[in-house]
Amino acid sequence: MKKITPQDAARFGVRTKLVHAGRDPSEQHGFVNTPIYRGSTVLYPSYDAIKHRRNRYTYGTKGTPTTEALETAWTQLANAAGTIVTSSGLAAITVALLSCLKAGDHLLVADSAYLPTRTLCNGLLKRFGVETTFYDPSVGSDIAALMRPNTAAVLTEAPGSQSFEMQDIPAIAEVARRHDAMVVMDNTWATPLFFPPHDMGVDLAIEAGTKYLSGGSDLLLGMVSASAKAWPRLRATYDEMAVCPGPEDVFLALRGLRTMALRLKEHERQALDLAAWLRERPEVKQVLHPALPGAPGHDLWKRDFKGSSGLFSIILHPASEAAVAAMLDDLQLFGMGYSWGGFESLVIPFDCASYRTATRWAPGGPALRIQVGLEDLDDLKADLDAGFARLRAAG
Ligand SMILES: *Cc1c(COP(=O)(O)O)cnc(C)c1O
Repeated sequence: MKKITPQDAARFGVRTKLVHAGRDPSEQHGFVNTPIYRGSTVLYPSYDAIKHRRNRYTYGTKGTPTTEALETAWTQLANAAGTIVTSSGLAAITVALLSCLKAGDHLLVADSAYLPTRTLCNGLLKRFGVETTFYDPSVGSDIAALMRPNTAAVLTEAPGSQSFEMQDIPAIAEVARRHDAMVVMDNTWATPLFFPPHDMGVDLAIEAGTKYLSGGSDLLLGMVSASAKAWPRLRATYDEMAVCPGPEDVFLALRGLRTMALRLKEHERQALDLAAWLRERPEVKQVLHPALPGAPGHDLWKRDFKGSSGLFSIILHPASEAAVAAMLDDLQLFGMGYSWGGFESLVIPFDCASYRTATRWAPGGPALRIQVGLEDLDDLKADLDAGFARLRAAG
């Protein structure tokens, strides 16, 4: 086989990148996959080599051929300047924010952001002298009014965790650039397959690899890809913190990466079918799925996104807590639990009302977040159908 050069790789389509990026069998005795390198100590061949740290790999926390394979693949996929791999999605968010903030800085965060992101801002970041303002995710270019001389970063997430508000990322990025603030985006839902973050003005893009990279609910991992502007400080901050994942998890992530396009396509198809079916149900007040025509945020999704994944929410018509519990408790295929992106369907009840500060969460009925897995759609619909019957019976 002729070697693939970085120039060749840049020309490849997304699916070819997913299959080939970060792999060089000629360096692994012909084996297709880069194996799991387990190691802390790396031996240097000479006094001169260790004095000047001339080894390609210097120490376990700084990277191994296994972690480098994933970093390289993700960098190509996201069209980034570089990528770091962390031990969880939340660790990725933490490293990304710490890389562009210092004491005395101001941070803008979408009110719809992943709840642990919010907790990080109100806890650790506050303690270290960073002030956070939460903003209405629909703000668009009006974010200019919220910028202060010390605003160092704007965190976006589209669509929002649980509540699925879309954001005008290019408009926000344009304002942030003028103010020399970094744009951070949690891109876990769309992945670079459906939203190429750095082509849209994002400096630091977060991916919880725990979700679609794994595809199996068996892995905790995070990644941050960076623009050329954000990369040097991201890499330096990561090296200072050393929140590296274990090598088995990186290997599982690489394994998942190779088939991610196929799985996402199927999650997309199944979720859109189920969302359209739910919209017709008399028990459902509203479906929050930006790729569904007529749903909130659809226009922005259509303008900026190339696809959608398998996670969305629904708002039920008013019902008692006991009725919702009766519906959920006896579901057989939809498990109740956090996280998503695996092969199996999930549902969780949620309520953002108690912690929102820039927007009011009052959807007018109980809210459920649904992750659509790879089961037969007819079976999933029958499971929900029986659940709706219990909901109605309990009043
Ligand atoms: C799950 C999730 C994360 C965090 O990932 P963990 O690996 O569970 O820490 C971050 N952002 C979003 C949007 C998520 O859904």
